[in-house]
Amino acid sequence: MAIADNLTAIRADIPEHVELVAVSKTHPVELIMEAYNEGQRAFGENKVQELTTKAPEMPDDIQWHLIGHLQTNKVKYIIEIVHLIHSVDSFKLLREIEKRAKNKNRVVNCLLQLHIAEESSKFGLDEDELFEIITSEEFSGMEHVKVKGLMGMATFTDDESQVKREFEGLKAVFGRAMAEVPASGNWTPEILSMGMSGDYKLAIECGSNMVRVGSAIFGARNYNAG
Ligand SMILES: *Cc1c(COP(=O)(O)O)cnc(C)c1O
Repeated sequence: MAIADNLTAIRADIPEHVELVAVSKTHPVELIMEAYNEGQRAFGENKVQELTTKAPEMPDDIQWHLIGHLQTNKVKYIIEIVHLIHSVDSFKLLREIEKRAKNKNRVVNCLLQLHIAEESSKFGLDEDELFEIITSEEFSGMEHVKVKGLMGMATFTDDESQVKREFEGLKAVFGRAMAEVPASGNWTPEILSMGMSGDYKLAIECGSNMVRVGSAIFGARNYNAG
């Protein structure tokens, strides 16, 4: 039971205030159920299609996290399934989530994704864009989204000092946003989602309280498996 052992080891490693999201992308339902049977309830997927295929095949008390880039035209497929969208990277996307959530009479939990990595390929807002959104009149009128915090992905590098710098940078932006923008109905900053298999310990040291861990639980991913 490698998955059970991995989960036990990771849980022992992270403090109680940190939530573990098990990133199950590319893995079949049978393997995800092994983690479920160990008490894991929060699972992360990065593709809409995969999430909408797996969710109906699995127990109802799972909390599904969407962690990958979300296209506006796919919001409608997940709006009734998703527990938390980590990857809101534009006002346009937030508007679409508001619209679709309103249609379904729901309030959808979101994180705003900040671009903290050096690579230009990673999605996310910059600090100015974040503040534009959360201080806007339009945002304060949104009643069907709840922005609960921020998410970021560090550069994929062995240079730990760089990763640390990026995590600390995100933590600082989070602190500034909490200090300068008073909490309200749809701005309740409490979650800082940062850290993956290779860097979750460092992320927690830098202030993360939600880590997204895939390969350290389920093993390496095989993207060619279908
Ligand atoms: C795949 C993925 C993870 C997990 O990566 P691991 O290195 O396998 O832990 C975390 N966050 C996001 C956004 C991902 O796409």
